[in-house]
Amino acid sequence: MRIGFIGLGNMGGPMAANLAKAGHEVIGFDMADVAIDGVRLVASATAAATDADVVITMLPNGAILRAVANDVIPAMRAGATLLDCSTVDVDSARAVAAQAEAAGLLAVDAPVSGGIGGAAGGTLTFMAGGGAEAFASVAPLFDIMGQKAVHCGDAGAGQAAKICNNMILGVTMIATCEAFALADKLGLDRQKMFDVVSTSSGYSWSMNAYCPAPGVGPQSPADNGYVPGFAAELMLKDLRLSQQAAGSADADTPMGALAEALYTQFVEDEDGAGRDFSAMLPRFEKRNRA
Ligand code: NAD
Repeated sequence: MRIGFIGLGNMGGPMAANLAKAGHEVIGFDMADVAIDGVRLVASATAAATDADVVITMLPNGAILRAVANDVIPAMRAGATLLDCSTVDVDSARAVAAQAEAAGLLAVDAPVSGGIGGAAGGTLTFMAGGGAEAFASVAPLFDIMGQKAVHCGDAGAGQAAKICNNMILGVTMIATCEAFALADKLGLDRQKMFDVVSTSSGYSWSMNAYCPAPGVGPQSPADNGYVPGFAAELMLKDLRLSQQAAGSADADTPMGALAEALYTQFVEDEDGAGRDFSAMLPRFEKRNRA
């Protein structure tokens, strides 16, 4: 396939390199000066999109996605697919899909989980929204860039799945960290706490696979000074998207709202910026009941 790839940052760069390595012709554009193995760089998003079978975007947010979509949709050939893998608000995902379809294109929103390691290793999970024909047109690319792709429903369903998952993740990480801090104050050994909770009804991915306590459970950012991993500001971004979506859908999400408030405080007023999102544990450790 001929693939236009727009947004060659931490995630997009290695994803584009994997597509090129698999034998696809990849034409890339980024506003920043980048060099990606196997990718031919061009001077504009429009140039990357012209004559492409698939245009992939991997951009910071919904406003930038909308601006790039405005540029590239008129340049794409009829029947081609616009595949957005960025994490953006559900409304932007739906608006871009509608615009693409009105121009005779197929559209898929497919945010990812798996982070930079998953992008480099080709082991991402894609959560996809869009029609069946659109999903089928890019399924072979998901196989190269990832290990799993779930077709979640119509346009926007991929973004909806991603932010609901990450709202659960933010809430359970906070709950796991505050429980460890309480256990400390009750004199409970952290390893014993892990042994019990990881095999009891309090278990979760945050506890079992990404334990925020150093030296306990499998290797995680806690064992590396809380270097991300998944940075607290990216968690905050996803929690904000979840609350924005809850606002437009009139959904009551009190725990999600509290998680957003706590990560905002952690990132903006405390020492959370640049640290892994599991660094909530040392934050709680230092505090007393207000
Ligand atoms: P990044 O900032 O490293 O990359 C974004 C790239 O887009 C940059 O290189 C930037 O120069 C480029 N860009 C911005 N505006 C542009 C424009 N108008 N035209 C062309 N290029 C433009 O970010 P990232 O970590 O690669 O994340 C990309 C997306 O993936 C985000 O939506 C993020 O939420 C999501 N995501 C990231 C992770 C992660 O661990 N980094 C995990 C899952 C999802």
